[in-house]
Amino acid sequence: RDGETAPTPQHTQDRTAEEQHDADDYSGGIPEFRNEPDTNPALEANQRWAEDVVERATPEWLAGQSLPQRLDAAEVDSLVADARSAAEQWAARPATDRAAILYRAADIMASRRGHLASIAAAEVGKSVAQSDPEISEAIDFLRYYAHRAVELEQVEHAVFTPDRLVLITPPWNFPLAIPAGGTAAGLAVGAAVIHKPSSPTPHCSMALLECLWDAGVPREVLHGVFPDESEAGQKLISHDGVDRVILTGASETAALFRSWKPELNINAETSGKDALIVTPAADRDLAVADLVRSAFGHAGQKCSAASLGILVGSVAHSERFRRQLVDAASSLVVDWPQNLSATVGPLTELPSEKLTRALTTLEPGESWLLEPKQLDDTGRLWSPGIKAGVKPGSFFHLTEVFGPVLGLMEAEDLEEAIELQNAVDYGLTGGIHSLEPAEVEQWLDQVQVGNAYVNRGITGAIVQRQPFGGWKKSSVGLGSKAGGPNYLMLLGTWSDAYGTE
Ligand code: GLU
Repeated sequence: RDGETAPTPQHTQDRTAEEQHDADDYSGGIPEFRNEPDTNPALEANQRWAEDVVERATPEWLAGQSLPQRLDAAEVDSLVADARSAAEQWAARPATDRAAILYRAADIMASRRGHLASIAAAEVGKSVAQSDPEISEAIDFLRYYAHRAVELEQVEHAVFTPDRLVLITPPWNFPLAIPAGGTAAGLAVGAAVIHKPSSPTPHCSMALLECLWDAGVPREVLHGVFPDESEAGQKLISHDGVDRVILTGASETAALFRSWKPELNINAETSGKDALIVTPAADRDLAVADLVRSAFGHAGQKCSAASLGILVGSVAHSERFRRQLVDAASSLVVDWPQNLSATVGPLTELPSEKLTRALTTLEPGESWLLEPKQLDDTGRLWSPGIKAGVKPGSFFHLTEVFGPVLGLMEAEDLEEAIELQNAVDYGLTGGIHSLEPAEVEQWLDQVQVGNAYVNRGITGAIVQRQPFGGWKKSSVGLGSKAGGPNYLMLLGTWSDAYGTE
């Protein structure tokens, strides 16, 4: 396969012999967890690597890559029954066996970094700069959950009974890392996994599953299926043999799934409307850079994206701050991934109704500091937009739009800024830029988000270090965060060792 001949990038650090796991089968145990480093774009060899990645990423090349099995409604029952029975043996193996396989899969992913990045570029136009850290995150999920599963098995005086069959329904915005997380979690605890890709990204899902199969996950335990029509999807999601559905997607999707089966066991990370507060005590240069990166990275198509900048007191009235923000956003290069200097890529799909409204309309009181422009006739490439004067309670204040638009709101003081930030139904990420410890403390006390970031951008959570997940309407059935120590405990039931529930 092409992936195997694709060159591997040079890493930021020289690795020691012990860290070269390529030929390791981990039968003697897995090493300590470390986050996988991203590719260093400053090295010339890596620039050539990135050129190869995007050169290969043509529609013709993509058409030759594998796709999940089509699934007809009539096939759902036997798929579920087969997967459930395969799970019995898989769960009976020691967690260390499954962990070794996940570690091997992580190594395979690392060796196919270029292949995976090409698929993401060809399938949804994701830039190498955006897919590279995503691939590191996917690798981290595999290794981290392998560790947690081994630790879970050692808990004394309690028995964990894992789910038999977990269904993963990932999103298209992080088509490698997010499905890698759910899939690895299910496999690590001993469940069989059915993986139903998001419709724009079946090739990404398949490339991920191939790493797992090639590492030794039995085919009967891990399935990639693409329902032929909505009937097959609905039948699968509401099937009694599916113990749990792990969804990352819109709140509306979670509600739809629940409407099909009210007693559905669902763990869903759903939507956000995330704000970054900038107070007069901020390092303003840093705040501008973080706001722009968090708003426009991956064209704003992140649940974690900064959709609102809430400017406090003198920052709100500073012409200079606005100018800096506009200059920074205008300097972003917007283009398809073939242009390696591009920092903002295309939208994955044509703008939704909500995004179109955000891109093309001003609500009362709003004005464009930087008006977004459609840059080519695909309709998918938009330059960043910044609107000032977003009013409390307005459409843009409260609605997730999932695209390259940043709205600015004004607050007299921090108290008011926090009120504006908390007024949304969601509670995923949020940030504050302030060098005043009392302000930071007040904010941390009051802000209603799962991931609260101080003096940093509000996207790009790192497995183990910054477990990711929200509260309020950003989360359905989730008591613990992805990439955090307790995530696997969601995927099963506990009883004490003496047999009482
Ligand atoms: N985990 C990603 C981040 O921290 C966001 C995931 C999402 O958009 O669903 O930026």
